[in-house]
Amino acid sequence: MLKIFRRQLAAVSSPQVLKEFKNQELIRTKGYVNGNWIESSERKTFSVNNPARATKKEDKIADVYAFDTKEFGDAIEAAEVAFHSFKKTTGRYRADLLQKLYSLMIKNEDDLAKLIVLENGKSYADALGEVRYAASFFQWFAEEAPRVDGDVISSANGANRIITLKQPIGVCGLLTPWNFPAAMITRKLGAAIAVGCTSVIKPASETPLSALSIAHLAEEAGIPPGVVNVLPANKTAEVGQFICEHPLVKKVSFTGSTNVGKLLMKQSSTTLKKLTFELGGNAPFIVFEDADIDKAVQGAITAKFRSSGQTCVCANRIFVHETIYDEFASKFVQKVKETTQLGNGLQESITHGPLIHERSLAKVQQHIKDAVEKGAKVLLGGNHRPDIGEFFHDLTILSDCTQEMDVAHEETFGPVAPLFKFSSEEEVLKLANNTEVGLAGYFYSPDISKVFRVAEELNVGMVGVNTGGISEAALPFGGVKESGFGREGSKYGLADYLTIKSLVIGVE
Ligand code: NAD
Repeated sequence: MLKIFRRQLAAVSSPQVLKEFKNQELIRTKGYVNGNWIESSERKTFSVNNPARATKKEDKIADVYAFDTKEFGDAIEAAEVAFHSFKKTTGRYRADLLQKLYSLMIKNEDDLAKLIVLENGKSYADALGEVRYAASFFQWFAEEAPRVDGDVISSANGANRIITLKQPIGVCGLLTPWNFPAAMITRKLGAAIAVGCTSVIKPASETPLSALSIAHLAEEAGIPPGVVNVLPANKTAEVGQFICEHPLVKKVSFTGSTNVGKLLMKQSSTTLKKLTFELGGNAPFIVFEDADIDKAVQGAITAKFRSSGQTCVCANRIFVHETIYDEFASKFVQKVKETTQLGNGLQESITHGPLIHERSLAKVQQHIKDAVEKGAKVLLGGNHRPDIGEFFHDLTILSDCTQEMDVAHEETFGPVAPLFKFSSEEEVLKLANNTEVGLAGYFYSPDISKVFRVAEELNVGMVGVNTGGISEAALPFGGVKESGFGREGSKYGLADYLTIKSLVIGVE
């Protein structure tokens, strides 16, 4: 039944898909501030478009209100007022709120997944996976909330006691991207709520509808007014700067590109905010000579092509040992051909969707062109697919790639898998680490000594060893070098939302 339903959905316009939602309350176009759903002052709106649209055909999902610095200022002030009471609530109370949010997301997972498919374009299976992943952060932080304790430390004189209190930092500005419209919000918001912080969220202008649906669920869960505020905006740079420079905002968490991260860091320096930045990556994926090739192929498909290559932990450069290079390449091509299908993510058989916008498509095309001009061979794909839709591009595998090509140094953020040949561990580690960023890295080998050696040498924040999928709520997620700093999720994810206050107790 569901199969037929989803086939039909793929054929109809986005507004019609919305009409089929079981829970119509999830569809919101107003902003959410201080517990109220508000229109922007001049009633300005911007349209959210389905990236899976056919070429030259509009498929507007909805018009949402466009908020600017005036309303963001109001939201920040409301969040500041709410902070004074929310910070005094118990961890158990906040855990219960988060648990309710978790249950509500799971209860509404089908509608929430369809909303992600509409505004982001990923497949329904990927979107459903994202909703569950997103909800798991609320569950995880519900479990962490009652256990935010400080220390008792003996002082140098042997008599005094030092006590540390972990206290919520205050109002947080959460700036989230379009590639995980739900999970990048919950990974930040879950931690903020757990410790008693309040938040003002600016979702990516491409994907504000998922953010607003989460605001609705926060309201339904009984989260007090002012604790969660969500405002869509299309004047991204202006609003980003306003949040970063606002003196009442004590922390900014941003997920997006390294260039924007650098800009926000400069802007935040005027008020010295605490920052968590999760920025671009350029993940190496290494297949050693002793690897299980079939498993490595499967891992490469997950790590490279998930969300059509638009995740920050996507494998960007695939290094294969020269002795197994040809076998890996042909099995990789075969498996991608057999197991993937491009198209509208609401259709049952579809595994991969479009790129998010024109800029992304242009970068993919430019990387392929540059590589081919410099001697790469196209083993699979290679083409823009306007026959499917404006922003669709084939899943593409390139062989004979070299260090002179852009794909060796720049993050493609798209469905291009460049294969590089290597002959020694020393050589591949040098190449893998030869980048300004360091978010994720992957390698395949059964040799336990090599596992530790290589894992310790890779200059990244997260390593997948014999697996192409690493993300879960328990993982400390984050990078090194220009991939940013701070860790999200895991027991470390609370730290960036807390300050430590130290008390010295004089004891005679
Ligand atoms: P981008 O940096 O322009 O946008 C990424 C996000 O940052 C968007 O959500 C956007 O709304 C926001 N943003 C942009 N300018 C801003 C500003 N001045 N102030 C505040 N927020 C701002 O990148 P893009 O072209 O949309 O995406 C492609 C690149 O972004 C990729 O190459 C990748 O490195 C990076 N990216 C990374 C992640 C991630 O998960 N780390 C997610 C999305 C994009």
